[in-house]
Amino acid sequence: MRAGEFELIEKIRQLTTGAEGLRIGIGDDCSVFELAPDKELLTSTDLLLEGVHFRLDWTNTYDLGRKAVSVNVSDIAAMGGRPLSLHLGLGIPAQFEEKDLDSFLGGFVAAMKDYGVCLAGGDTCLSAGPLTLAVTVQGVCSRGQAITRAGAGAGDDLWVSGSLGDSALALHRLQRGQAPEETLAGRHFDPRARVELGWQLGRRQLATAMIDISDGLAGDLGHLLRASGCGARVELQKIPHSAAFEQALSRDAALLELALSGGEDYELLFSTRPEARADVEQLSLESGLRVTRIGELNASERCVFQTLNGTPYRLKSEGYDHFSNRSGATSRG
Ligand code: ADP
Ligand code: MG
Repeated sequence: MRAGEFELIEKIRQLTTGAEGLRIGIGDDCSVFELAPDKELLTSTDLLLEGVHFRLDWTNTYDLGRKAVSVNVSDIAAMGGRPLSLHLGLGIPAQFEEKDLDSFLGGFVAAMKDYGVCLAGGDTCLSAGPLTLAVTVQGVCSRGQAITRAGAGAGDDLWVSGSLGDSALALHRLQRGQAPEETLAGRHFDPRARVELGWQLGRRQLATAMIDISDGLAGDLGHLLRASGCGARVELQKIPHSAAFEQALSRDAALLELALSGGEDYELLFSTRPEARADVEQLSLESGLRVTRIGELNASERCVFQTLNGTPYRLKSEGYDHFSNRSGATSRG
């Protein structure tokens, strides 16, 4: 790292703009945001560690900057909120080149613009270990309207946005020394948070529960079900895939597992009352994002993935858990 800490902070400050409600940004001990009295503040942090979440020989630093923003903003979308601001914690190894840092910041700022969020502060230091990124995101929703994981009930429909499996398939290819197809690579290195859909589901109070899929459908659905105290039946053939994923699946049916327990899709998984079906479909049209009803919730304590002939599918892995996968560097949220 060439520039000194304060030069770097100044460089970052100059890259960023103010935002509505941001009274004090970079340069003081805290950032200060004004909130309307009828709003609630949502806050979430995600760590991105070199060697654990990303490898610098696989990702370019511009995409890494974008992804650091998107994976955080996705958590606000998953609560039905509107993202407002970020704080960026940087631990930078001495040998990390300035051009790579510039490209990281370029990606970070570009993604911030896409989501309409500002950078309100952060912390910067030299890392004696790997490149370390700690991003905190804050967002707002109307009082009492945050969509938690816990509000679903038996009889609710279960929906997922976009398509599942692309990111995990890209990672699967990389781990085998193959170059992933471009569309798959894009979904892995530069996932998009489903902000408009999440925000509208919250604003219109359509979703009873919601989570973003970072650790795989099976694992994240499990979180939602446990929090809500219900079970689910998911129809395997309804799980949406991209054309690239379908093509790979037609050659190797075992890849289906990647759409179920592979992670980093950053799609929204949510439940609604059955009466809300037409409203959800309308919202999908308005936001230009496909949503698919993949099953329904029930009063059992189990989650069943049902195949076309009605038999349950047995998952090989439930999803990603950092502490039960200590063996090595991959790239998981
Ligand atoms: P402190 O000693 O209070 O931690 P710093 O000198 O670390 O203050 O930071 C000075 C200002 O620069 C603070 O407003 C802080 O939020 C901001 N800042 C530091 N690092 C970053 C960063 N990586 N991104 C954005 N803002 C940063
Ligand atoms: Mg500091």
